[in-house]
Amino acid sequence: MELNIPYGKQHITDEDIEAVVKALKSDYLTQGPKIEEFESKFADYIGCKYAVAVANGTAALHLCALALSIKEGQKVITTPITFAASANCIRYCGGEVVFSDINPQTYLLDIQKVRHLLESAPKGTYKGIIPVDFAGRAINLEEFRNLADEFGLWIIEDACHAPGGFFLDSNNIKQYCGNSKFADLAIFSFHPVKHIATGEGGMITTNNELLYKRLIKLRSHGIIRSSNEFINDINWASGISNSSMENQNFPGWYMEMQELGYNYRLTDFQSALGISQLKRADSGIEKRSQIAEKYNEAFSVCKFIKGQSGFLKGHAYHLYIIEVDKRLELYNFLKENKIFAQIHYIPTHLMPYYRQFGWKAGDMTNAEEYYTRCISLPMYPTLTESDQDFVINKIKEFYNG
Ligand SMILES: *Cc1c(COP(=O)(O)O)cnc(C)c1O
Repeated sequence: MELNIPYGKQHITDEDIEAVVKALKSDYLTQGPKIEEFESKFADYIGCKYAVAVANGTAALHLCALALSIKEGQKVITTPITFAASANCIRYCGGEVVFSDINPQTYLLDIQKVRHLLESAPKGTYKGIIPVDFAGRAINLEEFRNLADEFGLWIIEDACHAPGGFFLDSNNIKQYCGNSKFADLAIFSFHPVKHIATGEGGMITTNNELLYKRLIKLRSHGIIRSSNEFINDINWASGISNSSMENQNFPGWYMEMQELGYNYRLTDFQSALGISQLKRADSGIEKRSQIAEKYNEAFSVCKFIKGQSGFLKGHAYHLYIIEVDKRLELYNFLKENKIFAQIHYIPTHLMPYYRQFGWKAGDMTNAEEYYTRCISLPMYPTLTESDQDFVINKIKEFYNG
């Protein structure tokens, strides 16, 4: 048995390590061919046209906000039950975060409440929505797209919890999280607790060529290297002051910084790790589903536990959450037994940073009630059956003993 059982952790194989070592021995540590290879394989996996690898999931969100030109004071809607970065990206651009409550059954952004917000303000008040596939459960983005279109909004899907997750659309077709069929942009994180680990790392996916080009530029300082897009004069760029000379080509060294970008690149050795991890993405989800089914079965008879309404098709099971009474006592009891459960999440609107904008307890009653009861149990592909049995038995012991 493991000494400590965390709520989530990475899975690194010898093959992963070999892939990283190979990249380290190659000519490129960064800005090399592994990045594009990772992007194209990830786009294939998710089922979209373009993917942009970035330094982490938060950088992915920031670049999306920049690419969509969020400006000072513009309002964007998101859920309070998510990692703070989902909201913070709006603040990086000076925008205003408007939280909207969750559905207490799915824990996802409640579309009816979003509709109510949009209908109770003049058109144009809100610019976009950032729905989150919280815990790995795919949010129905077809419904959100229809709503967004009515009000002229863009959508950034925060799919950090759900690579490989899907929902069934109105034609009963599987729509994979982040495929950007309905969202304008989608983002992923490769932090070690997520499905695919590269240490730090992230990805943006889209089908929109213009946004894709803008993201590539913003990821690397706002610099352009293709001569057909240069703005400056060709003779000036070449260092030729004699205007009678006709210069045909921009010099080989020439590049232009056209807007304010960042260095949000992923390295080649991280990309190599990502490519290797991607091969196990499906088997990882299968394993997560088996773990979820075992938890479901174990707790179905327990009146004191409210699980996520049975086994769910298309759930990527980043987290396995239960709602319980005496949550604090359970958390501490598990910790004494070296089981490190976690709480996802402390509602973002009640973080001291967001309280300064007027958000207060009572604003999001579903999210706040959920927060008093939720706890995330160990969920990762290498969780052994005996370790999971130990977790289940300790929980039963706590409530029955
Ligand atoms: C992890 C996560 C992020 C941020 O990703 P980082 O790679 O840690 O920056 C954003 N949103 C959600 C929902 C996440 O789980």
